[in-house]
Amino acid sequence: VGRHPEPQAGPTKPSGVARILAVASGKGGVGKSTLSSNLAVALAKQGRKVGLLDADIYGPSQPRMMGVNKRPASPDGKTIIPLHAHGVTMMSIGLMMDPEKAVVWRGPMLMGALQQMLGQVEWGELDVLIVDLPPGTGDVQLTLCTKSELTGAIVVSTPQDVALLDAKKALDMFNTLKTPVLGLVENMSMYICPDCGKEAHIFGHGGVRDEAQRLGLPFLGEIPLDIDVRLAGDNGTPIAAGDGPVAEAYGVLAKRLVD
Ligand code: ADP
Repeated sequence: VGRHPEPQAGPTKPSGVARILAVASGKGGVGKSTLSSNLAVALAKQGRKVGLLDADIYGPSQPRMMGVNKRPASPDGKTIIPLHAHGVTMMSIGLMMDPEKAVVWRGPMLMGALQQMLGQVEWGELDVLIVDLPPGTGDVQLTLCTKSELTGAIVVSTPQDVALLDAKKALDMFNTLKTPVLGLVENMSMYICPDCGKEAHIFGHGGVRDEAQRLGLPFLGEIPLDIDVRLAGDNGTPIAAGDGPVAEAYGVLAKRLVD
């Protein structure tokens, strides 16, 4: 991938990939990338062949969350060899860019980069390719929904009203683009005090479930606000790779997506 890739024709879905699932959110910081990496790892643990494509052009977090920082090889200058971590085949736009430089790509460049990552990366045989989208409703979403055979989208939000409002915009976009929404996930649902065990609802609770019900969309589940989720992500091994209640919660979510 060059600094300024131009759009080009490419396959709309890599031939060996059975389904493409996009993880979306209305705004940043609600846990979209955390959900993407944990779903990918949980699915791999369940024996699925999983790919993770980090298309969050403005803040690619998967190299850090999955613990990889090698630039992918391209022996023939055309195909790109993806990386592997925690049983997941992965590729991030962040591995192709200078991490210190701001991205100032116009729409066509973004389209080109996305098409390259879908079409030129040797994904191989995959049951699921998870795409970590940028937040919001911009060019990357538009390209992915209109130019690829997207199986469906998962929308993540915190229970808070403002975050939910933005999530509704993302849902509206998928609706307009006729992309099926597979369901909603509530992240940072509750906080359990590690000292006294008391449950606190820092961003509220149940807002996403209620919204899903109102919109007639599946509610896929909730993930608590847990410092270990953040630490695991920062350390490059998603919490779903281990055991415990949160890893199990991601496992349940992952199963719902492919069953
Ligand atoms: P987004 O992709 O929506 O911008 P991230 O996945 O990067 O959000 O998450 C933002 C921050 O919140 C990260 O530092 C991440 O580790 C943390 N985080 C996400 N989900 C949780 C959670 N359930 N519990 C604790 N921290 C979380």
